[in-house]
Amino acid sequence: MTDGRREELSANLAEVRARIAAAAKAVGRDPDEVALVVVTKTWPASDVELLAGLGVTDVAENRDQEARPKHDACALLGLRWHFVGQLQRNKARSVAAYADVVESVDRAELVAALDRAAQDRGRTLDVLLQVDLQQPPDPHRGGCAPAALAELGSLVAGAAALRLRGLMAVAPLGEDPAAAFARLADAAASLRADHPDATVLSAGMSHDLEQAVEAGATHVRIGTAVLGGRAALG
Ligand SMILES: *Cc1c(COP(=O)(O)O)cnc(C)c1O
Repeated sequence: MTDGRREELSANLAEVRARIAAAAKAVGRDPDEVALVVVTKTWPASDVELLAGLGVTDVAENRDQEARPKHDACALLGLRWHFVGQLQRNKARSVAAYADVVESVDRAELVAALDRAAQDRGRTLDVLLQVDLQQPPDPHRGGCAPAALAELGSLVAGAAALRLRGLMAVAPLGEDPAAAFARLADAAASLRADHPDATVLSAGMSHDLEQAVEAGATHVRIGTAVLGGRAALG
C-alpha cells in the first residue's frame, strides 16, 4: 500500500516539476526560481512523510484543526509549514505555534493577533498578504482588496515578530487566470517598491500553475496534481 502510494506520489511530483520547468523556460525564467509547496489538506500524515522522503520541503494546510495534529505527527521531518486558509483571529495563537509561513493575512486584527502570539512563543513568522483578485473585491471570500495592501503591508513590516515576505492569491473563478495574475504582479511590484524584501509571489494551483509562473510566481501551491482528487470537503 505505502509502496504503491510512494510510486504514485513520485510520478505525480515528477510531472508537476516538469510542468513548472516547462512554464518557466517558456518565459525565460530559471525553473529554480519557482518553489513547489505541496498542499496536503485532507491527506494523512503518512503522505506528508512520503513527500518529505521524495524531496518535498514545503507543505501547506488550510484548516488549523487539521494542520496542527498533522504538523505534530511530522515535526521531525524538517519541513516548512505554510498556512493558506482563512484564519480566524482566535486561531492565530494555535497557528503561530507550528506555521513557518502564514500566507493568508488579510486584515489588521490578524496582524496584531499573530504578532502577539509569535512573540509569546519566541518565534518569527514569515507573512504573505493574501490579495483578493475578484473585481469588485468580495469581503466574504478572504483576501485584502488591492487598494488596501500598502497599509496592511506597513503594519506587518512594523510588527516585531512578523516578516513581510510578499503576496499570495487564488485566481477567481470565471476569469482567465492570466488576467487575474497580471493584476497580482502589478500589486507585487507596488509592494516591493515600499518593501524590497517582499519578493515572494505565491500563486498557481494544479490547474493554473503555468499562468502563475508566467506572471512571476515564486511559489506554486499544488494539491490535486500531486496527491489526487480530494473528497468534497477539500
Ligand atoms: C487547496 C488549495 C490549493 C491547492 O489546490 P489544488 O487545485 O488542489 O492544487 C492552493 N491554494 C489554496 C489556498 C488552497 O486552499
